Amino acid sequence: MNSASNGTRNDCHYGYPDSMVMHGDAAFKNTGSIREIKKFMKTKIIATIGPASSSADVLDKMIDAGLDVCRLNFSHGNYNDHVEVMKVVRSLNETKGSMVALMADLQGPKIRLGDFSCESIPLIAGSKIIFSTRPMTGDAARVFISYASFAVDARPGETILVDDGKIALKVIATNGKDEVTLEALNEGLLFPRKGVNLPETSISLPSLTEKDLQDLAFLLDHDVQWIALSFVRNANDIIGLRKLINEHPSANKPRIIAKIEKPQAVADIEAIVESTDAIMIARGDLGVEVPMQQVPMIQKKIIKLCHRYGRPVIVATQMMEAMITNIRPTRAEVNDVANAVLDGADALMLSGETSVGRYPVETIQIMESIISQIEGYEDIYYQHHIPSNRTGKRFVSDSILFSACEMAQHTGAKAIVVVTHSGYSAVRLSSQRPKANLYVFSNDRHVLLSLSLLWGVEGFYLEDVESEDRLTEKIINVLKGRDLLKTDDLYINVLSTPEWSQGTSNTVRLGRV
Ligand code: PEP
Repeated sequence: MNSASNGTRNDCHYGYPDSMVMHGDAAFKNTGSIREIKKFMKTKIIATIGPASSSADVLDKMIDAGLDVCRLNFSHGNYNDHVEVMKVVRSLNETKGSMVALMADLQGPKIRLGDFSCESIPLIAGSKIIFSTRPMTGDAARVFISYASFAVDARPGETILVDDGKIALKVIATNGKDEVTLEALNEGLLFPRKGVNLPETSISLPSLTEKDLQDLAFLLDHDVQWIALSFVRNANDIIGLRKLINEHPSANKPRIIAKIEKPQAVADIEAIVESTDAIMIARGDLGVEVPMQQVPMIQKKIIKLCHRYGRPVIVATQMMEAMITNIRPTRAEVNDVANAVLDGADALMLSGETSVGRYPVETIQIMESIISQIEGYEDIYYQHHIPSNRTGKRFVSDSILFSACEMAQHTGAKAIVVVTHSGYSAVRLSSQRPKANLYVFSNDRHVLLSLSLLWGVEGFYLEDVESEDRLTEKIINVLKGRDLLKTDDLYINVLSTPEWSQGTSNTVRLGRV
């Protein structure tokens, strides 16, 4: 946990050169109304829900401040807690007309130390300690590690990191059965139940533990939109999870987020991006598992790759960490949030800031104001990823969706409007990062909610899908009624004609309101 610096405040207002002054709708107009700011934001906000934020009152305020997705962390809390949050979010969505999605984060093969008979174990460089896979209460000589095949998988010379890397140890020897002897590489205190990272060990644990399988079965009966899988190592982890989801009879299939936090996942990133529905750059564990100075470039490269493949990408962890205890983030955190928006993240994720922090609502308000500032710069719009696979089965729709964004850019259209069944067209449009607002209509609430994670997408529920002309008229009226389109505004309409050609966008139309 950080604390903000006590450095002197600098509230001076500097004169900016003209080129740095914001332009466009996203410019932060300090009208005092958070709702007014919110409706322009394209980068989405995910908040981890915990004791600080699970009440209806706080969730209500967080939604008003700009919350798009609630993350339920299955490393903490019990099923009753999670069900309560689901109920509150669904009820707020109904009463407020919001579209806040639910994301469940599976713990995955997280490795921890066991309990100790003492408060902590002091280590100095060179201290020896045994990690045992036999359940026991630890002491200065021997502690339990929750990784049954550790003594089989570990190799002498490998590095083991404990407590977010605060303690580094080297494997000296293993008995190949249940005990590994380690030597501390630095001084520090070893605390019970702390997480253990093994960046160099080829871990034989399954990607879904017994607990994950149980949590998954529970979640598939509870209609969440996204399931995040921790400690993904390769694309097979995603393929295995998808098989389990598809085998379940539930109609509303959750989409998969691959959490990238292992060096093995970074090495296999292209195959993982291809097989998953979304990516989370989980910088907490990632910054322990790979040298931390590599994380900024990994973040930029993964975001670029996700844009190319049309996969939503989340930047997570320690974005506003100081706000767990302080009313303001550090200047470095403001820069981090701004840079993640500039890099092109779909969504930014808050963890302790909103789950246990003192200022969950204010954290989202300040994050929104930073996003708003950056979205005022023209450079972040229009990616121009030209569909190249001419024989691929999505080539027609991909080309139409690409052309819709090109047309929006050169006509200055206010909006791109699309009706979606699976959400595919929304994903492709969003990945081109158009400046025109993306209004997505569907008669499937689950699909619409899942799209809340995507950059720029605003979802609208539409009960009946009629003939295409009446449908366009109806949609434009909805948008006019909400002041999202005005007389004379240009808009672009992406259609699949005839209406039964579901999923294949094949027509782009330019219209004037
Ligand atoms: C992370 O490590 O950055 C992360 C998001 O995972 P978790 O919060 O589950 O540790």
